[in-house]
Amino acid sequence: MSDTRRLDIAPLSEWGMFTEPRPSVIAGPCSAESEEQLMETARELKEFGINVFRAGIWKPRTHPGSFEGVGAPGLKWMQRVKHELGLKISTEVANEKHVSECLKYGVDMVWIGARTTANPFLVQEIADALKDTGIPVLVKNPVNPDLDLWVGALERLNRAGIRKLGVIHRGFSTAEKIRYRNNPEWQIAIELRSRYPHLPFFCDPSHLAGSREYIMEVSQRALDLGLDGLMVESHCNPSCALSDAGQQLEPRQLREMLYNGLAVRDADCDSPQWKDNINQLRTKIDIIDENLLYMLGSRMKISRQIGEYKRDHNIAILQTSRWDAVLAKVIEKGREYELGEDFLKTVFNAIHEASVEVQDDVLSDKSQD
Ligand code: PEP
Ligand code: MN
Repeated sequence: MSDTRRLDIAPLSEWGMFTEPRPSVIAGPCSAESEEQLMETARELKEFGINVFRAGIWKPRTHPGSFEGVGAPGLKWMQRVKHELGLKISTEVANEKHVSECLKYGVDMVWIGARTTANPFLVQEIADALKDTGIPVLVKNPVNPDLDLWVGALERLNRAGIRKLGVIHRGFSTAEKIRYRNNPEWQIAIELRSRYPHLPFFCDPSHLAGSREYIMEVSQRALDLGLDGLMVESHCNPSCALSDAGQQLEPRQLREMLYNGLAVRDADCDSPQWKDNINQLRTKIDIIDENLLYMLGSRMKISRQIGEYKRDHNIAILQTSRWDAVLAKVIEKGREYELGEDFLKTVFNAIHEASVEVQDDVLSDKSQD
């Protein structure tokens, strides 16, 4: 099982890329468009302390014929950013050829894009090409909300000996109309974070939000969850950008967000007073969790009894009108406790599903007699 496999990860402090303090920031345009655009953007970013620069050289576009990146010549401009301005440079790679071009031009870090993470053949090809290079790799989540696919990509890279390995959460494709371009599904990021607490973890608020106006709120959420850093698209003149024009910040807007907008929280605190208080609160939570388990177990026992009763009277398990009434009552009552409707629906539908399963078992026990 992938969740029990260990990853051997070098902490971000050993990557030689990011300087304290948190959050670690990678910034730069969606795409390299011209030498002037890259140099101008990089210069403005460097002015307020950004030291890791991003730019897409090969762009995976939905439609053929849209701007698909300048390709390898753009790496020469990136090299200029590195040598003249002293920034670390990073770009997206989607195959072995991209990796070998990056190696020629001294790219300091690469990332694997969302569409590529979803393809194990390509991830393996990239892992093999990067073997023994020591180049750090960030893996974006796959476009579909499949945590194992994401973890599988990390395992492939790690097995190739890549220890400077991290992830970028950029949200997941969705057919639903939502506030953002991609669905955050934060619970997937939280699950990955708890499986691998030492895995360097970035959020890409530009691709997640899809719109400048939401970059700040998404970034704040990422920091509140204790993520290590942000990859933000920034362009010296976003309105003229050849790709993702609506989700790039001007460098001065990025500076404003980083220095005057975002609240950076500490991951932990050494103060004994804080530890004492938090421990007391955690103990209360542990007790409540135990009570919840006891209550759920008791509820399930009664469900089983109801199942037996239904079986003995030859009644169907599911009475939807009864369940609709229960759910409506729960939602109404939940308001008193400030519990949201979506949350209650998720929890109670899961409880109901488990009850139906228990009753189903009761019935099938009978049919086996
Ligand atoms: C990008 O970072 O430019 C990019 C294409 O992102 P994603 O893979 O998240 O769509
Ligand atoms: Mn982009």
